Amino acid sequence: MKAVLIIADGLGGRPTDLAGKTCLEAASTPHLDALASRGALGLVDPIGPGVRPGSDTAHLSLLGYDPRRVYTGRGVFECFGIGMDVCQGDICFRANLATAEETPDGLKITDRRAGRIDRGQDQLAAVLNDVKLTVSPKISFEFQPSTQHRGALLLRGHSIRLSSQITENDPHAVGAVAPDSKPNPDVIEDAAARVTAAAVNEITKRSFELWKDHPVNRARMESGKPSANVVLLRGASDAPHLQSLESTYRVKGAVIAGGALYRGVSLACGMCQLDVDGATGGLDTNLGAKAEAACKALETYDYVFIHVKGTDNAGHDQDAEAKRDFIERIDRELIGPLAQQLDWSKTHIAFTGDHTTPIDFGDHTTEPVPVLFAGPNVMPDGTQEFHEREAARGGLCRFSGQVLPILFGYCNWSPKFGA
Ligand code: ZN
Ligand code: ZN
Repeated sequence: MKAVLIIADGLGGRPTDLAGKTCLEAASTPHLDALASRGALGLVDPIGPGVRPGSDTAHLSLLGYDPRRVYTGRGVFECFGIGMDVCQGDICFRANLATAEETPDGLKITDRRAGRIDRGQDQLAAVLNDVKLTVSPKISFEFQPSTQHRGALLLRGHSIRLSSQITENDPHAVGAVAPDSKPNPDVIEDAAARVTAAAVNEITKRSFELWKDHPVNRARMESGKPSANVVLLRGASDAPHLQSLESTYRVKGAVIAGGALYRGVSLACGMCQLDVDGATGGLDTNLGAKAEAACKALETYDYVFIHVKGTDNAGHDQDAEAKRDFIERIDRELIGPLAQQLDWSKTHIAFTGDHTTPIDFGDHTTEPVPVLFAGPNVMPDGTQEFHEREAARGGLCRFSGQVLPILFGYCNWSPKFGA
């Protein structure tokens, strides 16, 4: 057996999206409709009814984990997604390259994204990573940039305990002073939180000292661009305890995802990463290359997870036409080739979203998303099209999370619960 899971981020919509229809209803999706007519549909609450999901927690839940038990924060998945080596005890952060101005009150942030810097980040990282922290010689750190102003930072204690129970130093507002990191109010006496906050503050201070006159920034200023002269840290999180999918199901899987967060969640669950040229995590992503890579990967792996981000981007941008057109591209350039090339005598597929991102709201909402399963063991339920309204009539009814375990169930990979 082989399995393919596809998650189109923020796929779900509302009837207010496009004159009474969701973007998915308005889109022409002949290949998804064909899969629906030989498979079964349902509605899935990514985490649970009435829970408004983040993408990371929703993915954990769809992959069969309980995010309330295992989720420690976003930073750790950013670190995994960039390819950093995360160990138990490490504290992970989402990092931003930003622009700051020195004032008597501290560092005033004038651009949280440093003008979306697109080159020189590695040179900045190299000088920062040479810093030996004076707060404690037992703490080391690594900063790694990913795309543009984004990156991740990992703090490691060597025979010293660190804590994620600290406040962030990203003020989330332009014109505000970056606040010092402090222990969270309920752990103010905790030495681990105090030393971790002190390390964060030292790294931020040192980044400004090292970067304000760095050649990368001198060149940026000469061409009128904002300087990338400070690192802001947020989303402090511990390494989570996740049992790998391979140890639960005895199968090997790979992930194809442009976005670091989704790669990170998948790697943390034990999947291997496949690099695909042109997988950007945006609306311009190369869907055909993803389909091709997935078919090739199934020669080696038992299952492939393909993540597509553009649907959510269009939802956040409140651009209904862009979301509808991107769904049509998914159907034509990803589902079409897969439907043609997969061996349907032994392959099961699941297609869904990780939450609803309706156009009117421009952010994630609580509604369930349509889900489709097809393959030799799936009982056809008489549905003919793939969208929210048809899925509400589907034979799988409405359930919470667990899309990967259901898919693996069709493949006969599930361990028995009990004797
Ligand atoms: Zn999402
Ligand atoms: Zn989103």
